[in-house]
Amino acid sequence: MPNCCIIGSGVIGLSIARELAGRGLSVTVVSRDPPQALASWAAGGIFPAQPPGDSLPPTATPLEQFTFVSDRLHSEWARQLRDETGIDTGLRRCGTLAIATSDDTSEELSADMRRWQRLGVRHQPIATKDLADCEPAVAAAVAAGTIREAVLLPDEVQIRPPRHLAALRASCQHRGVEFLDAVSVTGLQTANGRIEALATDDSTRPILTADQFCITAGAWSEKLLTLLGLHIPTRPWRGQILLQRTAPGFLRRVINIGAGFDYLIPRPDGRLLVGSTIEDAGFDASTTQTELTRLALLLQSLLPKVSFGPPEASWAALRPGTPDGLPVLGQLPGIANGWLATGHYRAGLHLSPATAVVMADSICGEPARHAFEAFSPERLLAPDGLLPH
Ligand SMILES: Cc1cc2nc3c(=O)[nH]c(=O)nc-3n(C[C@H](O)[C@H](O)[C@H](O)COP(=O)(O)OP(=O)(O)OC[C@H]3O[C@@H](n4cnc5c(N)ncnc54)[C@H](O)[C@@H]3O)c2cc1C
Repeated sequence: MPNCCIIGSGVIGLSIARELAGRGLSVTVVSRDPPQALASWAAGGIFPAQPPGDSLPPTATPLEQFTFVSDRLHSEWARQLRDETGIDTGLRRCGTLAIATSDDTSEELSADMRRWQRLGVRHQPIATKDLADCEPAVAAAVAAGTIREAVLLPDEVQIRPPRHLAALRASCQHRGVEFLDAVSVTGLQTANGRIEALATDDSTRPILTADQFCITAGAWSEKLLTLLGLHIPTRPWRGQILLQRTAPGFLRRVINIGAGFDYLIPRPDGRLLVGSTIEDAGFDASTTQTELTRLALLLQSLLPKVSFGPPEASWAALRPGTPDGLPVLGQLPGIANGWLATGHYRAGLHLSPATAVVMADSICGEPARHAFEAFSPERLLAPDGLLPH
C-alpha cells in the first residue's frame, strides 16, 4: 500500500489525511503543536454565504469557484463525520447581518453588495427602522445611531472549529491514520529530486521515510520549505478573539462589520466570539491588552452591556498568508514526491474539504476533480528558486 507522510495536524493536514486514508493510502501525520495553539482551533468558523444552486456565473474568480465547491462539500463532510465519529461539528446555516458603522465600513459593504449581486448570493438590505424587529439584540445600537446600514444574508454558515478538528482526527484514526504528536520536523533529506526522509526531534523515531510527503505547516510552511532550498513565502497574520457569554439565542445571527474583519459570532449555547484582528506580529501568537480592549469596546457598541458578563477567555493564533492572498496547492517545484497545501489565510476552515480532494487527487496521480491551477506553488517562485522580488 503506498504511504504518505503529512507534516501538520491543522485542519488542512487532517482533511488531506482523512481523504487519502479514505482512498486506501497508509498515512502518517507528524505535528509539533497542541491543537489549542493552532489557527485551525482558534478560528471563528464562519463560512461566507454562497449562492443557491449548483454553479457560479462564469465571471467568478478561481478562488470564488473553489470556495463554492468547498462550501458544498462541507455539508457532506459534516454528515459523514457525524456518522463515523458521533461528533456534531456544529455546522449550521445561521445567517448573518452585515452592517456598516462608519464611512469605511459603508464602502466595504457597498463593494460586498456588488459582489453578492454578481455571484447571485441572496441578500436583503434592511432599513434601520426595521432592524430591531429583525435582530432585537441590536435595538439599542440602532437607537444610538451606531448602525448606519444593514444587509441580511440568510445563507451564511458557521462551524465549531475545535469540534470539527476533533471529528476529523477521530475519523482519521478510524481510517487507520497514524499520529506522531509533539514532534518537530527538523530536516528534509533529498536525493535525485525526491524527498527520501524526514528528520525529527523525536529521539525514538529520528528518521521517517515515506513514498510521498505533504507539507501543511500553516504559517511555518516557509521555514520547512527552506530546508528544501525553496523560497515560497507564507507569512503569519495574527488574529485575536475574545470569548464572552450571553443568554442562548440572545443574538440570533452572526454580525459582520463592513468587510467582516470585525464580527460577533453567537453559538447556540450562548458563547459569543468577538473578533478579530489582522496583525503583522511575526511568529508571536500572544494576545495583547490593546486589541482585547478594542474588541470589548466593539461588543459594547453593538450589544447592551447587561447582556453579557466578564470575558470567559481570549486567544490568538497565526493565519498562513501569501503575497497575493491565494492558497498555495500542488506539487513542490522540482520534487517528484513533495506536495504543499497552505496559505489559506482567513478561509482555511472553509476551503479545507476542496483542498483535501484536489491534493488527494494529485498525490494519487488522478485527474483533479476541481480546478486549482491558479493556486500553484510555481506562481510564487522565481526560476532560480528565489522570490521574484
Ligand atoms: C482568529 C482567526 C479567525 C479565523 N476565522 C476563520 C473563519 O471564520 N473561517 C475560516 O475558514 N478560516 C478562519 N481562519 C483561518 C484558518 O484558521 C486558517 O486558514 C487555517 O486554520 C490554516 O490551517 P492550517 O492547517 O494550514 O494551519 P495550522 O492550523 O496553523 O496548522 C499548522 C500545523 O503545522 C504544524 N507544524 C508547523 N511547523 C512544524 C514543524 N516544523 N514540525 C512539525 N509540525 C509543524 C503545527 O504544529 C500544526 O499542526 C481564522 C484564523 C484565525 C487566526
